[in-house]
Amino acid sequence: MTRLKQILARRIAATGPMTLAEYMATCLLHPVHGYYTTRDPLGVAGDFTTAPEISQMFGELLGLGLAQAWRDQGAAARIVLAEPGPGRGTLMADILRATARVPGFAAAAGVHLVEASPTLRAMQAAKLAAYGARWHDTLSDLPEAPLFLIANEFFDALPIRQFVRAGDGWAERQVGLAGEALAFGLAPPMPLAALAHRLADTRPGDVVETCAPAEAMVTEIARRIAAHGGVAIFIDYGGWQSLGDTFQALRSHAPCDPLETPGEADLTAHVAFAPLAAAARAAGAEASALTPQGVLLERLGITDRARALSRSLKGAALESHIAAHRRLTHPQEMGNLFKALAIHPLGAPPPPGFDQDLPKAPDAHHA
Ligand code: SAH
Repeated sequence: MTRLKQILARRIAATGPMTLAEYMATCLLHPVHGYYTTRDPLGVAGDFTTAPEISQMFGELLGLGLAQAWRDQGAAARIVLAEPGPGRGTLMADILRATARVPGFAAAAGVHLVEASPTLRAMQAAKLAAYGARWHDTLSDLPEAPLFLIANEFFDALPIRQFVRAGDGWAERQVGLAGEALAFGLAPPMPLAALAHRLADTRPGDVVETCAPAEAMVTEIARRIAAHGGVAIFIDYGGWQSLGDTFQALRSHAPCDPLETPGEADLTAHVAFAPLAAAARAAGAEASALTPQGVLLERLGITDRARALSRSLKGAALESHIAAHRRLTHPQEMGNLFKALAIHPLGAPPPPGFDQDLPKAPDAHHA
């Protein structure tokens, strides 16, 4: 039994079953035994990999897109360039290298990172110290200024709650005890105003997930963008509206039981973008159309960039470069599963690669 499993079992024995959100947050961010607190989970030796770790092209193209949005909005003299959940700092390093030649951008941009893990903060510092990066515990600690923010595979790590529809009510999924083992259970069903709008597109037995922390963060980001200008780009595995159980655990690049090794496996859920777009609008900003990652990267010119980079490569390095291009963009790899949403001020265009939002078809569920 892991140490964290003992801690969780004792807490449940003392105070009863916990929500999935409490379980997830404890597993990922427990100050001593949490998954992110204690390790670098990325890369071949870790549990999963992410787009910026696959190829430098990802950060370069998105960085140039952010810089273009900065110019389109009048090239403010002081901006906050921010990233929550920067992992190893690779994405921000690629953004800063690619935008170094955009006149005025580097001088205008203060680099701000929001990171919960001390282990990953240290890795980010090693990569980004030369840029005068600063670290914060929460987004609300960022300076008030035009905000240019990017978040890749960040929202999928935030704690979700799950509700199973029962009649016109909802039973919350919980983590409790079955003997010594952790086990899923259900709270008694009750009506939930926050899910009233989902009665129309679900049936009894369907699972719907909510992520209040993600909505609160988008509210904060969108408020700043509405007040000061800027853009935010969110990229994650997911779809428009939550439907079905997407809670998953990954260890050494393979799925595992999410209750088996708390603190030792990465826990994620698909991101539902509709509530994030709604939060942005409610805070006075505009949300773009939801765009598949492959489409976004093609529009930003990944094929030209891939060709340019390939000229200096040969052998195994060339092979892996070609594979990385395919992995990021191909519809059967990350191209379609990962989606991007941009937040921008009312009256300003969305950043390069994104369309203005059009009315949504109600059927756009998870792939
Ligand atoms: N964006 C990176 C890493 C994704 S992993 C990449 O694309 O490679 C998720 C990141 O979010 C990690 O850096 C993790 O420590 C951080 N994180 C998770 N929950 C967080 C929270 N509540 N506040 C701040 N950072 C968090």
